Amino acid sequence: MVLNSLTIFASRNFLLMEHVDINNSIVSFKSTIDKSKKIVGFTGAGISTESGIPDYRSKGGIWDKFQPVYFEEFISDEKKRLLYWQRKQELWKDLSTASPNTGHMFFKRLYDEGKLAGLITQNIDGLHEKSGLAKDLIVNLHGTNLEVACIDCGFTVPSEDVFESLDLEQGVPSCQKCKGLMKPATISFGQQLRSADLDRANELANSCDLMIVIGSTLVVQPASSFPSIAKENGALLAIITLSETPLDSCADFVFHLKVEDFLRLLKP
Ligand SMILES: [Zn+2]
Repeated sequence: MVLNSLTIFASRNFLLMEHVDINNSIVSFKSTIDKSKKIVGFTGAGISTESGIPDYRSKGGIWDKFQPVYFEEFISDEKKRLLYWQRKQELWKDLSTASPNTGHMFFKRLYDEGKLAGLITQNIDGLHEKSGLAKDLIVNLHGTNLEVACIDCGFTVPSEDVFESLDLEQGVPSCQKCKGLMKPATISFGQQLRSADLDRANELANSCDLMIVIGSTLVVQPASSFPSIAKENGALLAIITLSETPLDSCADFVFHLKVEDFLRLLKP
């Protein structure tokens, strides 16, 4: 009996201390945001799960159920190309109706306050664009599902124009300019990241005074190297993600919380 009540007392005290710690960190994080002039965001799948976008790479995610179609196969194998388009058509139903959530709107607010220098994302869902961020501030490291591009001449078309009238029984779409292969503008397995995007992300990481990571486990390279680059160049680093990351030990702020719970605490 005595032991039980002691245990309860101790754990209550512990919870209380943890609560005070989080509150102190939130206050200090808020004042860091106030003082920062060039903030760069870095986001991964965890920011979009609340919008109903599945985390493709997690267990039970889409790549767990299906063999991915590699870029080389898309180019050389007609059947794989069709399979790829069928999957994208299926995904488009979720993507076209998904809306940005509080996590995306957090960065939109920083943008409206004139503090956001750029946003690097591993996501391909286009939700940062939909939140109203200027397109030229966003670096889509893994490409975007908002556009379909010709592999040969680079001609791009908005995805909705393609998917609204897509009939795969008539074959996969081809470029109206050069008849080349059209593909949703995401980076496939086996496909190189675009060097212009890597350069811009590098530049942002080198010039920011605060990098805020939301919803990334920071394990997919080279994307995850940007928070390290920012830190090495003297920026402060904040990581808000449910699970631990390899950079937790060098970050200035770490909140292992769901994005929406964190933002609830952050509100004045
Ligand atoms: Zn073309």
